[in-house]
Amino acid sequence: MGYQDYFQFDVIKASEKSNARAGVFKTPHGEIKTPIFMPVGTNSSVKMMTFDQVKACNAQIILANSYHMYLRAGCELIKTAGGLHKWMNWDRPILTDSGGFQVFSLSKLRKITPDGVHFQDPKNGSKHFISPEVSMKIQEDLGADIIMAFDECAPCPCEYSVARSALDKTKAWLERCFEAHKNYNQALFPIVQGANFDDLRKESAEFVSKFDAVGYAIGGVSVGEPMEIKNHITKITAPLLPFNKPRYLMGVGTPIDLINGITYGIDMFDCVLPTRNARHGTFFTYEGNKIIKNKQFEYDFSPLDEKCDCYACKNHTRAYIRHLYKTQEATAATLLSIHNTHFLLKLATDLRQSIIDGNFEEYSQKLLEGFNKG
Ligand SMILES: [Zn+2]
Repeated sequence: MGYQDYFQFDVIKASEKSNARAGVFKTPHGEIKTPIFMPVGTNSSVKMMTFDQVKACNAQIILANSYHMYLRAGCELIKTAGGLHKWMNWDRPILTDSGGFQVFSLSKLRKITPDGVHFQDPKNGSKHFISPEVSMKIQEDLGADIIMAFDECAPCPCEYSVARSALDKTKAWLERCFEAHKNYNQALFPIVQGANFDDLRKESAEFVSKFDAVGYAIGGVSVGEPMEIKNHITKITAPLLPFNKPRYLMGVGTPIDLINGITYGIDMFDCVLPTRNARHGTFFTYEGNKIIKNKQFEYDFSPLDEKCDCYACKNHTRAYIRHLYKTQEATAATLLSIHNTHFLLKLATDLRQSIIDGNFEEYSQKLLEGFNKG
């Protein structure tokens, strides 16, 4: 038995003019057509949406956060429920992160040692310890199809010594993750770190490529760095990862990020942005982002975007959703979340089709001109 009994990735078409590729990724809970955007269900729920609504947006896979599940629900509860799929009644693939990113964000409440990270729950002060072995155990209890290595995500940009030290720990911890993880029906993705340093990114990409993993991730981006740095890191790192394995760019994106990432050879993306933006009243359109509370939409009886066929656009007007938002009706956030999630998933589907049709570069260039108007 091995990972090959549960997972398979095939690039079905690669662009000749860029690193963009279209693929099919088989997992224990079904096939994922890549490139794909993964909506984030932090607490085992995509905020403001039911899973029927998430499915109607054509989500093929969603992400859940180990840190939140471990602290707020407890792994014993999820395990007893039969794992995350049964717990939240989602029968398609799931990816869980390692919890590392959230723990490292608790800058004053955590202490990093070579063994792992001691931290305090900011909500109730309780003390916890996560190591590569503990993270693997948590993610095995949760039971997602794809699980992530426990890594140290350095700030970006940062001092060289900080990035060096984080990468050294990430490398040692990856070996321990693979040592601890033995479930072949859960694919463990290593993560490339190295902040904004080309040599460290290269070293990290070469190191993770030595492990015969099902797929690979690029981490430590989308942590506040300028777009040029994010693009540069992705551009130099993605081609260093094995061609015939899925590549996941963590915590990205916007519609523009998706186009850039796919151009550089990325297959998977995730971000809280579509639903977070929705809760703050911002919605995606093919003419850039717009803000629903703006006066210009008061008498606007057109849909959020003329070209979108999501539930919100098929049934409601900008004027109506603006009214709901201004009167603080929760439905406004639901409708905008449906639209933004659908929009990114449709974008990924259309870009995939353009790769298959052989006109990705022209098609994405035209889309970029529209997105940059916002
Ligand atoms: Zn829509």
